[in-house]
Amino acid sequence: MARPDCDLLAPLIWHSRVPRKINFFAWLLFKDRLNTRVNLAHKQIISMDSCPRCATLPEDSTHLFLTCPLANRVWQRLGILPQVEGIIDLWDVPLPHHLPHKAWPFILMSLLWKIWAARNDMLFRNIDQHSVITLRALISDLDLWSHRLMATCDKEDVYSWRSYLSARCAMPL
Ligand SMILES: [Zn+2]
Repeated sequence: MARPDCDLLAPLIWHSRVPRKINFFAWLLFKDRLNTRVNLAHKQIISMDSCPRCATLPEDSTHLFLTCPLANRVWQRLGILPQVEGIIDLWDVPLPHHLPHKAWPFILMSLLWKIWAARNDMLFRNIDQHSVITLRALISDLDLWSHRLMATCDKEDVYSWRSYLSARCAMPL
């Protein structure tokens, strides 16, 4: 898939059997309607659009989910280093070959949700979450949400990812 626009992403977002709140979250994110600091400043709800962690850089969705150290260390921990220009390219990012790519929309949306939660923990609760904690929280969600998958092969795909994530949590970086 080469740089799809958001409407082409609609089936990937809405057909994934993540909880409904995650479908909506992903839809807002890829429509660039999520309440990042840049979007809030654009709506004149806040005056400064700077990232609460980096201070000098504007917090748009690309910064929040990719380049901000808070997100970047999660990607590093995951062993997937997206050399991408924007978040839309994440759908097409090179993945470890042994992992089932069919499960990527399910994993990706769950992961982005956890990065968003880690960012909110930092912003509203002053907690600077370690990347291992973020991935463990993701594993916990996958354990819960994999029950939503009907097909055994889909469940097995998510279990493969789960094993990989667990291994990455144990790796020294
Ligand atoms: Zn930042």
